[in-house]
Amino acid sequence: MEKNSQVRTRFAPSPTGYLHIGGLRTALYDFLFAKQQNGQFILRLEDTDQKRFVEGAAQAIYNGLKWAGLKYDEGPDIGGPYEPYIQSQRLDIYKKYAQELIDKSRAYYCFCDEETLENMRVEQTAKKQAPKYDRRCLKLSKDEIKQKLDNNDPCVVRMKIPEGRIIIVNDLVRGKVSYNTNELDDQVLLKSDGFPTYHLAVVVDDYLMKITHVTRTEEWLPSTPKHILLYEYFGWPVPQFAHLPLLLNTDKTKMSKRKGDVAVEDYIKKGYLPEAMINYLAFLGWNPGLSSEVSTKGEREKEIYSMEELLKDFSLERVHKAGAVFNVEKLDWYNSYYIKQLPLDKLVELCLPYLSALPGHPDPAAAVEGSKEYIMLKKIVALEQERLQTLSEIREHVAFFFELPTYNKSLLKWKEMTDEEIKNSLKIAKEIVANIPDNEFTKEKLSEALIAQASKMKSKGEILWPLRVALSGQKNSPPPFDIAEILGKEESVKRIAIAIKLLS
Ligand code: GLU
Repeated sequence: MEKNSQVRTRFAPSPTGYLHIGGLRTALYDFLFAKQQNGQFILRLEDTDQKRFVEGAAQAIYNGLKWAGLKYDEGPDIGGPYEPYIQSQRLDIYKKYAQELIDKSRAYYCFCDEETLENMRVEQTAKKQAPKYDRRCLKLSKDEIKQKLDNNDPCVVRMKIPEGRIIIVNDLVRGKVSYNTNELDDQVLLKSDGFPTYHLAVVVDDYLMKITHVTRTEEWLPSTPKHILLYEYFGWPVPQFAHLPLLLNTDKTKMSKRKGDVAVEDYIKKGYLPEAMINYLAFLGWNPGLSSEVSTKGEREKEIYSMEELLKDFSLERVHKAGAVFNVEKLDWYNSYYIKQLPLDKLVELCLPYLSALPGHPDPAAAVEGSKEYIMLKKIVALEQERLQTLSEIREHVAFFFELPTYNKSLLKWKEMTDEEIKNSLKIAKEIVANIPDNEFTKEKLSEALIAQASKMKSKGEILWPLRVALSGQKNSPPPFDIAEILGKEESVKRIAIAIKLLS
């Protein structure tokens, strides 16, 4: 496909407090599409709904995009040729264009108050009509309008929707979708507080910022015919549209805060890696299809994609129409995959913030490479690398290395063993562990000696299970040899003795 460096996409979130995970998916598709064309990706904040204003919300958006590696070329915090990129700082621009529409008789002042509009709705609903503004203010004479304006009567500006026209949205994902203008309401464009509505602001900004491709979720599709009309009224070229499928909860309802985490920062806190999140989100609404090199005989399509590979293979044409279910287990699968790929030192560095508050844990600042603490930490993290699904789990998994575990003595029990049998088994294990010379206290030596003993017993579990629980206090943990090596001989023997005492 030929590249088109004129391509400009934008991510235009409303700063409502946090970066929504669905917003990050939209931003990712915008980014991939623009960058694979050598085009530009722009961030614009749509804060025209002042009732929803939240302090710090813009920063959450900048942080989330930065974390994910979606670098924008222009935006509120970095500027650009079409600034400002925050809609509340562009009010004069919208006013000017609203005036242009009034002058062209494509829009009109409406002085109806809330009560009038509510009565209208009630009457129409009673007559089983779809609620719609009845255009009574369109009948006002020039003089009446002038008088009301001079009087400073509160008013809005409404768009004049033509009657009986079919507007076709040519969508890159959904194909041609047609709308009859009779079903459209005379949309408010400018509110009485002087702020534009989304509809006016989005069209004016997309035009002025030279956006070529408008990518957003499908809930905006029904608004698109109004936008197309506005482009026509202004005499501006219509951009390409791509309406993305919604993200859904597992029960197929729209993904919402009530049903789980939707804020990107919650995922960051839990220790998801950006690579995993990007890979997962890319597939929430898109798939690459089977590549030509892969045999079609039941082979699964490639699931692991780096950003570079996505930039190569992503296409808006392969975006699905159906809603995409957000499945945390699948995200966990991606995250554990990317955790396993990390160089150990990097994983240690990423785990440190989650470990620092553990009682008895060495100060992470002291864990400089080569130090005793660092070597221990590295061994612990290496043990966990295969098991971690999120970085934050490390804390719960490894706390027992730093503090004596507390557990119920029933956990020491392997199958049908009696307390007496467990005690004996632990005494044997203690003996074996204590007899390994300090300079040979490695997991290999421990395993050799303990397995030799285990083979004399009915099953390996008889010695290994109680020993592992004595050392870790956990139902699931790495093998006892690995734990003992990290704890050291003295601590291991001490923990086995505690378990024996628990059974006495
Ligand atoms: N401000 C809208 C939102 O937050 C963006 C819609 C659009 O991209 O046009 O969903």
